[in-house]
Amino acid sequence: MLKISKADYDLIRWEAERSYPHECCGIILGTVTGEVRSVTLTLTCENTRSDAAANRYSIDPGRVIAALKLARSRSETIIGFYHSHPDHPPQYSATDLLEAHWFDCSYVITSVIKGRAQTTRSFVLLGSEEQKKFQEEPIEFVTFERALPIAL
Ligand SMILES: [Zn+2]
Repeated sequence: MLKISKADYDLIRWEAERSYPHECCGIILGTVTGEVRSVTLTLTCENTRSDAAANRYSIDPGRVIAALKLARSRSETIIGFYHSHPDHPPQYSATDLLEAHWFDCSYVITSVIKGRAQTTRSFVLLGSEEQKKFQEEPIEFVTFERALPIAL
């Protein structure tokens, strides 16, 4: 399960729309408790696939290393990645599976039709390099208690 704040969820979808007709991509930091990944920060990344940005995405490995360092400094880890599918359904492609190497991490996909974000789905990468698969997981919103104003 992926637990995410509405703010981070909206940001991922905003990026998907902003990058249209190209694919957006980013790294998701957070914490892991059993099967539950909780998002604490989303990091927007440049899609380095300028040759085919409409249907491919790639994150500079240097950005991934930087994100890992940032995560460690926060006592967190990389818990997933996000990208968008311009004018395509929010279903992972054969290439998405082939290029996914972070096991037990969430791969979030947002479908963007004519520039508007539609469905966002999350898939966890399971197995090993020899035999891997994506399994859809639920996305749950976490709500933060708003501090009540102090009555004077
Ligand atoms: Zn994809």
